[in-house]
Amino acid sequence: MGNPLTPDVLVDPVVLTRTLVDVESVSGAEKVIADCVEDVLRQAPHLSTERHQNTVMARTDLGRERRVVLAGHLDTVPVNGNLPSTVVDDLIYGCGTADMKSGVALALHLAATLPDPRYDLTFLFYEAEEIESRFNGLHLLSQHRPEWLAADFAVLLEPTYGVVEAGCQGTLKVTVRTHGRRAHPARAWRGVNAIHAAGEVLRCLDDYRPRTVTIDGCTYREGLNAVRISGGVAGNVIPDECAVEVDLRFAPDRTERQALDHLHEVFAGFDLEVTDSAPGALPGLDAAPARDFVTAVGAEPAAKLGWTDVSRFAALGVPALNYGPGDPMLAHAPDEHVEIGKIRDGAATLHRWLAAY
Ligand SMILES: [Zn+2]
Repeated sequence: MGNPLTPDVLVDPVVLTRTLVDVESVSGAEKVIADCVEDVLRQAPHLSTERHQNTVMARTDLGRERRVVLAGHLDTVPVNGNLPSTVVDDLIYGCGTADMKSGVALALHLAATLPDPRYDLTFLFYEAEEIESRFNGLHLLSQHRPEWLAADFAVLLEPTYGVVEAGCQGTLKVTVRTHGRRAHPARAWRGVNAIHAAGEVLRCLDDYRPRTVTIDGCTYREGLNAVRISGGVAGNVIPDECAVEVDLRFAPDRTERQALDHLHEVFAGFDLEVTDSAPGALPGLDAAPARDFVTAVGAEPAAKLGWTDVSRFAALGVPALNYGPGDPMLAHAPDEHVEIGKIRDGAATLHRWLAAY
């Protein structure tokens, strides 16, 4: 079978979206789509193209003062009876339409049709975003090809329904443990009940008032929540241990270290064990290409509350944001779809921003 990404397809981001959707690419099985994308990019004389596993990188080298990354993941969550794609009125239905082949289509369309952009561009089409972080194509590049990620600014074309979502919140998960002494409940005074001791932990959580923080016009809402509790030995034993798993979402003005210090203050006197930690990312809207981009979009940026690959760029000192045509509410849903109008708007916006050389 020939490459379905023909020149006719590449010039139309809507047709391109549908064509990409119809190349099934569930995480771990991105080889075919990566082959198609690599083949197209290698044919463009203005790009130099390289590949690491199933991640494809193509870049211009025009000697521009600044470099911008446009990035999208090629993988999708498992198909749910929603391939091949279908079109109903202004909507394209199918697995990956919103998250995020419509975004990938915008980047690939630009890569193929804009030989003379205003900034030097690096296009990254990467594998395995929807599964564990150690397989993530951007993570692998940060380990093996960090020079491919170098830029002044990055846009991830994840679904945002056509608005700029800037920065992202950090995540810190800890286990708060209480201790006691086992005894028979008939002689409970000989023991210390660790589950009762957890009451104070729960009170701390109930009394907690999370911050709302505005940075560069983006409002982040923090959250501190118990997400699991476990304790108890048997029906006739006073428990000697109880563990409360706590999840903190923190605004990007705190570092991971500061977030942990904060939890030590909240749970003063308790044992904390960190089980997961990921930094947030500042909105980074003061970088010059970011300001121009926000102007081209023409709407106020919003804060990203979830954790995204934006923070992988932030960790490398590259300001990054999310902007894509898909609706994030539809990501991973069985009725996943994307509006054709949003794809056209997105393509026009990116052209406005990047073609103004
Ligand atoms: Zn995604």
